[in-house]
Amino acid sequence: MSSGIASLLDRKVHDRDDILALLQCSEDEAPLLYRRAAAVRDRYVGNHVYLRGLIEYSNICGKNCLYCGVRRDNVRIERYTLTREEVLEAAMTAYNLKLGSLAIQSGENSSKAFIDTIEELVSTICRMTDNRLGITLSLGEQSRETYKRWYDAGAHRYLLRIEASSQALYRRVHPDDDMHRYQRRLDCLKAIQDTGYQTGTGVMVGLPYQTMSDLADDVIFMRDFDIDMCGMGPFIEHSDTPLGERGTDNLFLKERFNLTLRMIAIVRIIMKDINIVASTAMQTIDPAGREKAISCGANVVMPNLTPARYRAGYQIYEGKPGYREVNESNVSGLNLDLIPGITLGLGTWGDTPHYGRRLTGKR
Ligand code: SAH
Ligand code: SF4
Repeated sequence: MSSGIASLLDRKVHDRDDILALLQCSEDEAPLLYRRAAAVRDRYVGNHVYLRGLIEYSNICGKNCLYCGVRRDNVRIERYTLTREEVLEAAMTAYNLKLGSLAIQSGENSSKAFIDTIEELVSTICRMTDNRLGITLSLGEQSRETYKRWYDAGAHRYLLRIEASSQALYRRVHPDDDMHRYQRRLDCLKAIQDTGYQTGTGVMVGLPYQTMSDLADDVIFMRDFDIDMCGMGPFIEHSDTPLGERGTDNLFLKERFNLTLRMIAIVRIIMKDINIVASTAMQTIDPAGREKAISCGANVVMPNLTPARYRAGYQIYEGKPGYREVNESNVSGLNLDLIPGITLGLGTWGDTPHYGRRLTGKR
């Protein structure tokens, strides 16, 4: 059996059947997959982990995704939006701690006030930091014009998860209305790439109704879209959502965690030189979850800079760490002892070679 995955890993090109076989390899074989993925990471993008200081700007959301605790119909959370000063302070923290870049995430909002505010914040942060702090946005579906305005203001990466690349599965985990159309999500992702952003997408692993075949197709989707960044995490129930009514007391979290490690490793082996996030959802299931993801080929973490008093309001899923983990003695929040050989890529935007190559068409 183990010779099976070894020869699979040695193939130059992996088809859908190979991906399925890797996803379903035995627990004994999985470490071989993980080690290969880490070696590919070291060879193609180096043994560095890059940091994106995360600002959860607002939990006001116009959408109603069936899995998410921030969904519009959840009346049990208090809605907040950070002030301009709070955002700028968090940005300066990222800058002073040499995190190298910033990620601004939020519930979805397409009001004029929101769009104008983000534009102003992005340009102010660029000015304040002399363009030395990279800016990633993760602000959901917007018009092409909005993406362009934020890009022109100085943001250069955008993360919009497709959530589920299967249209049928996407439909099952979203309300059936015009705000939640698969085609619109896809069009937005394309618009983001066309605008010139380093483009990131990803999926949740372990969604209700999701099959192994769906996950294999997700990998193929990301490869064919030629993404620059990948953010994937296990689905974690939130009890105040339609898909979380059973609560978090279930037996499957560990399996989703392991499956996410496999997805990360496979995406690394297939796409080689992209940035892959070790997500906070991994850490929520296992305190060493992000370090384990890094051991399987991930190379980005997003230490949370949101002021502590807002944390309870940004519980996309239950059990999300509620503390501000970044300080001068540990800027990543990682336990680096668990990942020997890895160094932090401080004070740099942490771009990958992939984006430049995609633009010039070189392979
Ligand atoms: N509103 C924006 C960004 C914030 S949500 C957007 O939706 O793009 C960020 C991510 O949280 C989503 O893309 C989704 O993949 C993830 N998420 C939401 N609910 C989750 C849950 N219950 N478990 C795990 N991840 C979840
Ligand atoms: Fe809103 Fe994003 Fe949550 Fe959907 S996943 S409800 S768009 S915050």
